[in-house]
Amino acid sequence: MSDNFDVIVIGAGPAGYAAAIRCAQLGVNTACIDKSQGKDGQPTLGGTCLNWGCIPSKALLDASHKYIEAKNDFAEFGISTGEISIDVPKMIARKDEIVKGLTGGIGALFQGNGVTSYSGSGKLLGNGQVEVTDHNDLTTVLNGEHVILAPGSAPVEIPAAPLNGSTIVDSAGALDFDSVPTRLGVIGAGVIGLEIGSVWNRLGAEVTVLEALEDFLPMADTRIARDAKKMLIAQGMDIRLGTKVTGATPTGDGVVVAYEGEDGEHELVVDKLIVAVGRRPFTEGLLGADSGVALDENGFLFVNDLCVTDVPNVYAVGDVVRGPMLAHKGTEEGVMVAERIAGFKPLVNYETIPNVIYTHPEIAWVGKTEQQLKADGTQFNAGSFPFAASGRAMAANDTQGMVKILADAESDRILGVHILGPQASEMVAQAVIAMEFDASAEDLGIIMFAHPTLSEAVHEAALGVAGHAIHVVNRKRK
Ligand code: FAD
Ligand code: AMP
Repeated sequence: MSDNFDVIVIGAGPAGYAAAIRCAQLGVNTACIDKSQGKDGQPTLGGTCLNWGCIPSKALLDASHKYIEAKNDFAEFGISTGEISIDVPKMIARKDEIVKGLTGGIGALFQGNGVTSYSGSGKLLGNGQVEVTDHNDLTTVLNGEHVILAPGSAPVEIPAAPLNGSTIVDSAGALDFDSVPTRLGVIGAGVIGLEIGSVWNRLGAEVTVLEALEDFLPMADTRIARDAKKMLIAQGMDIRLGTKVTGATPTGDGVVVAYEGEDGEHELVVDKLIVAVGRRPFTEGLLGADSGVALDENGFLFVNDLCVTDVPNVYAVGDVVRGPMLAHKGTEEGVMVAERIAGFKPLVNYETIPNVIYTHPEIAWVGKTEQQLKADGTQFNAGSFPFAASGRAMAANDTQGMVKILADAESDRILGVHILGPQASEMVAQAVIAMEFDASAEDLGIIMFAHPTLSEAVHEAALGVAGHAIHVVNRKRK
């Protein structure tokens, strides 16, 4: 095997593996190095997303949603069941099988496209040289014309709640509980805390979420965040805002959590505690002394808009660089870099990155929130449509939430779309497409949508911007 490559990619998460596959598709001789080992101790591809992130969390969210539907909703449809129970080890084993299938699939894609895969840690030395240390501590040096760094991110740990692998765990640990904890504490009401908290709440845990900020989901549209919070509380989640965790003491079979609120100090006793206070760029062992690559003030690898580091033939993509820590954002950056290396000139449009929180109902948005537009002084018109007025949502007994569209007051160009509702993650793609094509709200309003669908709510909200939605009474009629 040659040790010389056109491109060497470090990291095989969604940013790195997409970059490697696209390079190989374009005829570029590519190697990809990844150090991850799965639960079985074997090398695994796919990074956080496939092994400990997007996919396993959605496998558990879907399982727990089916459970809660069977328990609470089936009777409404006239379906009677025996007593509903959950076999947690079976649910976890199913999740592990999905992970195995998908991570194995990346290996097959590497093979099929001709990407040379190395299992071990990669370190950028300088002059395109990358040192690979395998799991037996043997080192090899590879030479690359170009190097793409995609080492991803790791969970933030806080001194107040040191992980112990059993009762105090991070998001990865929370995807592997072997039974439903009676009392579960979650530190952080961010995306990951709410998703994993939802899984165990649905399965019967008494979930308390402690969040230091006073605002709930400050990055989401305020109206959507307010409604979502009410719905999650109605599902049984105890969300305590403005509470900062100051200590966590394991007590054998549980944890005593100390936290400060506006009204002083409190204690919460739980069986398990999940620390979900964010993620940080992961760069340990990545850069040799002569790499020439710099970090920014927050510890991310410093790159320009085209993901080029301070060294012209070294690029960085995914969670390790600025921007939202999302799999699809990293993938698009990886593909952009691969294509630019091959001589094409694509760009990533950072204005149209979709955000999704896979609670139920789901929360999804793209573009600006109402509060951002107000702060920017942008004049806008808003249209919204509740799923309570959607025939399809009624048929599915899933009528919570709404679609809200914000459009420029003068040009009618869509500036933001915010969805709280069933399958919001799927519907937001329509908004992304519309915004990528610079659509106006009127454009969306004159397009025909199949009936009956949840997507009709997007159509109606677009009509609502100009005050002529059909299935609600418009406040401003035109
Ligand atoms: P990673 O996926 O972190 O991959 C980096 C890889 O590089 C890892 O395998 C790592 O071991 C390896 N590596 C690091 N350093 C080296 C080195 N020096 N040598 C060799 N290998 C190295 N995002 C979404 O878009 N949608 C979701 O629904 C979603 N859900 C999530 C749920 C959870 C619980 C978590 C934790 C994250 C979730 N995310 C989600 C975020 C998503 O997982 C990340 O944004 C994404 O994985 C980032 O991709 P990446 O390729 O940059 O890095
Ligand atoms: P995210 O970065 O979206 O995953 O969200 C993590 C959340 O954890 C943020 O909203 C933080 O405010 C919150 N957080 C961080 N540290 C603490 C702490 N000690 N106690 C409570 N909440 C915290």
